[in-house]
Amino acid sequence: MKSRGLAALSANSPLEPYEFERRDLRPNDVVLDIAYAGICHSDIHQVRQEWGPSIFPMVPGHEIVGTVREIGPAVTKFSVGQRIGVGVFIDSCRTCASCQRGLQQYCEEGMTGTYNTLERDGKTIAFGGYSDTFVIDADYAVHVPANLELSGVAPLLCAGITLYSPVKHWGAKAGMRVGVMGLGGLGHMGVKFAKALGAHVTVFSHSPNKESDARAMGADDFVATKDPAALKALSHSFNLILNTVSAELDINSYLDLLTLDGTLVVIGLPGKPYAVNVGTLLGARRSMAGSMIGGIPEMQEMLDFCGAHNIVSDVEVISADYVATAYERTVASDVKYRFVIDAKTF
Ligand code: NAP
Ligand code: ZN
Ligand code: ZN
Repeated sequence: MKSRGLAALSANSPLEPYEFERRDLRPNDVVLDIAYAGICHSDIHQVRQEWGPSIFPMVPGHEIVGTVREIGPAVTKFSVGQRIGVGVFIDSCRTCASCQRGLQQYCEEGMTGTYNTLERDGKTIAFGGYSDTFVIDADYAVHVPANLELSGVAPLLCAGITLYSPVKHWGAKAGMRVGVMGLGGLGHMGVKFAKALGAHVTVFSHSPNKESDARAMGADDFVATKDPAALKALSHSFNLILNTVSAELDINSYLDLLTLDGTLVVIGLPGKPYAVNVGTLLGARRSMAGSMIGGIPEMQEMLDFCGAHNIVSDVEVISADYVATAYERTVASDVKYRFVIDAKTF
């Protein structure tokens, strides 16, 4: 099946128009016409090999929404014309303890990523969502609520689920103080979800000009982190801190902000190890944890939650020829608050 999109053909080369083949429809497959594809900072990390060697040619993109064009004979979950979403993985082993629990992202064999990986046959390069068409096993796609504007839904497939999952897992609710580090694609979804669940939300940002946006999204407080004194004053204040920052930073000054038994969840993945001051953990029985996207059942739960609460991502819709600029602006923290590519422009 012919597909058109954008690809990096080799390491460090810019994305360029690319035509390629997707697999023919298998019995449980769905073909979708992509409407929008979000730009995640993980796309940039992988194109630039900031997480180690990548597989080229690479068609990035794992925030995909569109409309079902065709279904295989075994598909019962979707019908032609429905709105559909695909996220960060397209398959997994389906039998391990994690997969059995619907936590496919933690598959013990490793989830099969949407791109920058080989499909489970071990030889076909998986091509992602910066393209016009996608083929996906119906078990690994989700339904999109009818009331949500589709461009704002695309980022929910990664940025959305990646914050919804820890916010739920660590039980954000009224009476809890939640901190969100970094107001980018992920962070702004964390503000919206923690707020919708009733928590008191504080944004930590190194961009002072984002304060009014943060408050408009529901943040109760905004801390400009360029002033170190601002952090010190908040020692022992937060039950939960969600670190979505894409760059290296001193994690210890944030661990100190946790209350007794508080947890700092690492979500941002700059690719370098953190130096953790264990004394800061011991001093208040604090935890440091990690969290990665969410499984298929939780992705559906998150989208249904968004439908019920009218939550979408704040997006800037761009055409394919703007992607290079969008990458530069994202790296410069000048994203408001997710770039989404209009798939008609591929
Ligand atoms: P993004 O839109 O670029 O947002 C990152 C934010 O981090 C920026 O907007 C900025 O917020 C802050 N930041 C950037 N550079 C900084 C610096 N030098 N010092 C302090 N703060 C800085 O990126 P994203 O798409 O949200 O992704 C964030 C990270 O999460 C990436 O590393 C990505 O790979 C990772 N990720 C992880 C998962 C997972 O499952 N765990 C899933 C998706 C992505 P302010 O301007 O407000 O400071
Ligand atoms: Zn992502
Ligand atoms: Zn598995």
